[in-house]
Amino acid sequence: MPILQPLPDRLLLGPGPSNAHPSVLEAMSRPLLGHLDPDFLALLDRLKEGLRTLFATRNEMTLPLSATGSAGMEAALVNLLEPGDDIVVGVNGVFGGRMAEVARRAGARVTTVEARWGTSLDPQAMTEAIARVRPRVVSFVHAETSTGVCQPVEEIAARAREQDALVVLDCVTSLAGRPVELDAWQVDAAYSGTQKCLSCPPGLSPVSFSERAIERVQARSRPVQSWYLDLSLLAGYFGGETRVYHHTAPITAIYGLAAGVDRALEEGLPARFRRHDEAARRLVDGLATLGFEPLVEAHERLPMLTSLRLPESVRRQSEANVRARLLTEHGIEVGAGLGPLAGEIWRVGLMGENARPEPVDRLLEALRKLLA
Ligand code: PLP
Repeated sequence: MPILQPLPDRLLLGPGPSNAHPSVLEAMSRPLLGHLDPDFLALLDRLKEGLRTLFATRNEMTLPLSATGSAGMEAALVNLLEPGDDIVVGVNGVFGGRMAEVARRAGARVTTVEARWGTSLDPQAMTEAIARVRPRVVSFVHAETSTGVCQPVEEIAARAREQDALVVLDCVTSLAGRPVELDAWQVDAAYSGTQKCLSCPPGLSPVSFSERAIERVQARSRPVQSWYLDLSLLAGYFGGETRVYHHTAPITAIYGLAAGVDRALEEGLPARFRRHDEAARRLVDGLATLGFEPLVEAHERLPMLTSLRLPESVRRQSEANVRARLLTEHGIEVGAGLGPLAGEIWRVGLMGENARPEPVDRLLEALRKLLA
């Protein structure tokens, strides 16, 4: 039997991946070029410029890293940290916790500042930890996909800068769905993913590093322990004028990302952010009529990922069972709660192309049937 069999068509309303747009899939079926072909390199340059617009930065080292968002996280931390360096990590969900673990494995001394899942980090608590530890790096998550919380960035980043710390920001779920302003916020390293608000398949991590971050990498006393993620080696292929082989760039995935970024820029970022906000409002209002309550207070709620406490009508049937029926009977995926929120919430993603009225209405219609 062939390995590849017919696959179902799903509406992906979980925490990611979201559905890829047909223009992205069409781009991915175009003929391969070599990774040093001048036409491909010209596309790569245009893509880097497009990513700078999405991140609102002039950072030269802005590029599509050849692996998923976790590799972007790892690249930011292993390049900026040396064994024995201090880092302060804000943890209010799974991905802050992952940052702390990556930093620990890089040999850093990790101080975590925790906040209850479903709430944002307290800038005062972060400020105190930064003043006490005087860390090399301060890192936290802009859009915590495990809870649906949006973290205000500016104040924490400013306090970090006052102590001469570098700021690392996780923008995996926020990029192209909410304003991300690396230069205005003075963020030194940021990473994202392609499978969320860019509506591309998973596989790449757009990353951006400031001049200060690059200087830190150049001043390291020992090489980055990851050869693959070493920025000074990646720069040989992705940066500057001359292009030398480092690893074979994932050509097809880069075509797809180029199409995804084109769509975002053609739509215009303000309109795109508005569309995400409107879709989230429609979702929350619609689900309220079925008894779902948002986990996160309105002022710190993400539009592209909504966490919802489950009504009795769902709990009665077992939430896993309702999710399974949504998938198999209606072709709709939504996400379960993680960690302390497992069994307590669902996570509904309206990311990129799915942040529109039709997917919301399809979910509401399916749930009305299942919970009748
Ligand atoms: N950070 C956040 C906020 C995420 O939502 C995710 C993935 O969902 C990641 C990091 C890791 O990205 P990936 O799963 O693409 O490695």
